[in-house]
Amino acid sequence: MKKRILIIIAIIMIISTIIRTLIVGYSFLSYSKEIIQNESALIADIVMETTDKNKIINLIKYSKPINDVKFISGTKKGIIFDLNKKTIISFYPIGDKTLEIVYNGEIFLKKFKNAITQLLLIAFFSLILIIAIVNYFLNPYLEILESVKKSTKNILNGNFDYRLSTKLKGEAKNFIDSFNTFLDNLKESFNVIEENYTSFIEKKPTQNPLIDTKETIEQLANIFKFKRVIEDDMNETIILDRIANLIEKFNISHYALIGINNHNKKIFYIRKKGDICCSIEDNYTLCRAYRLKHEIDSKNYENLCTLHSCNNDYYCIPFSAEGNFTGILKIMDKNIKETLPYIKAYLKEASTIIESKTTLNLLKKQNIKDALTGLYNRRYLDEILPKILANANRNHSKVGFLMIDIDYFKKINDTYGHDIGDKVLKETSFIILNSIRKSDIAIRLGGEEFLVILTNIKDAQDAYKVAQKIRQNIQKRKISNINITASIGISIYPDLCKDSKTCIKYADLALYKAKNSGRNQVIIFNENLKTTS
Ligand code: GH3
Ligand code: MG
Ligand code: MG
Repeated sequence: MKKRILIIIAIIMIISTIIRTLIVGYSFLSYSKEIIQNESALIADIVMETTDKNKIINLIKYSKPINDVKFISGTKKGIIFDLNKKTIISFYPIGDKTLEIVYNGEIFLKKFKNAITQLLLIAFFSLILIIAIVNYFLNPYLEILESVKKSTKNILNGNFDYRLSTKLKGEAKNFIDSFNTFLDNLKESFNVIEENYTSFIEKKPTQNPLIDTKETIEQLANIFKFKRVIEDDMNETIILDRIANLIEKFNISHYALIGINNHNKKIFYIRKKGDICCSIEDNYTLCRAYRLKHEIDSKNYENLCTLHSCNNDYYCIPFSAEGNFTGILKIMDKNIKETLPYIKAYLKEASTIIESKTTLNLLKKQNIKDALTGLYNRRYLDEILPKILANANRNHSKVGFLMIDIDYFKKINDTYGHDIGDKVLKETSFIILNSIRKSDIAIRLGGEEFLVILTNIKDAQDAYKVAQKIRQNIQKRKISNINITASIGISIYPDLCKDSKTCIKYADLALYKAKNSGRNQVIIFNENLKTTS
């Protein structure tokens, strides 16, 4: 900066000196010309008036700085500067001849040289003076500019530690102080940003917080958008698909993403790209990341995972490992150091959402089951009945409704206690389930009352046989050494009843009849029961 200012000043000085030299030279020439012309006219007058021209000429030659005076033929007027001979020749016409006066040019040249030398000396000293002034007054300000330049360069490289200083006072000092305060604030702000984003993304800060912050904020915005989208996704498979697409967007070409249902221990999702030297789908329990529930980096120790079958490096991340679902991501690409923190952040967000979705699904499932016996409950009955009847209509098949009630159950509770009563309920449920086909449905309607729906039966007798089987099995098996019996009422769709509500009602009427007829028996509904109830 300073160098540039000094060069500019020097160039201005040189140009102005040249211009001044030209001006001086020009005016010197015209001045010399004028003097010589006047003098030549004077000499011509003297020569003309005298009789002895040669005497006068010799006189003039020796008294003036004149080298030669002579007449030449022809008329001529003017002045010639002969630089070679260092002479000035003046021509002055007299009659039909011309008086030629040759002046000694050295005197004029000397004067001219002196003038130029003075000029150069003035220019030189003023240049030195200007440089000294610039140095003394401008230097501290230039130094401030230089350090601002250095500091901004440092900021761009992510270094906020460089501080400015000056010996100047007043406004310059105020400027330096505010600039340093600005740097302090900037450094503090970036520290706060860095601390916060590292709690979201496990990314180690690089040398440049400016670039780190820009990148991280971009990625955080993307993660936020991703989270909002997957929150509304239907199920965990769609979410895992999105994760797989994202991994590919990060230019990862060798990976496997799997999802395991922790309840039935089955892999419900798998997506593989490239050869990942691992057949995790064959036996995921051998996967080290799955077993230990923490990340596995092959660089930490040789032959870390027995499932891995080649020499390439790999990285395995288990996610959502503690709940209903476990996800495992294996990556075999080399340059994943930069993207890995972001991928992990996506997995972290997805984990909580997948977990809450699977828990919700589980709750939904649990809501249709009775907690004590494990049989379906009334909610499921409402859900499944329309489907069963529609199916029967389509297939022209029949559906049997068996209403089962344990006899004198209150007595069991009263005699043996509630816990034993519960045990009886569980055992009875077990007996019922074992007495029917897999396609039949057993429901605990409440208390000690059960409904069994027999699908695809031929006729009422078919249902009667199953009901008798249930009744006999209950009677045969002593539960906690207590004799248990049950009464059963039957209705048949569409032979005896035309809709689900009526079928249940008629089965209930038949049960009522069985109870009234001495219990421990099976009764098929008939129209007479309507009037007796
Ligand atoms: P009946 O032969 O006429 O069916 O007589 P019952 O005693 O079996 O019928 P009642 O309806 O009078 O009694 C049903 C009893 O079932 C009353 C209630 O305390 C008991 N109960 C209902 N739910 C449960 C349960 O979840 N566990 C236990 N231990 N008892 C239950
Ligand atoms: Mg009852
Ligand atoms: Mg009962």
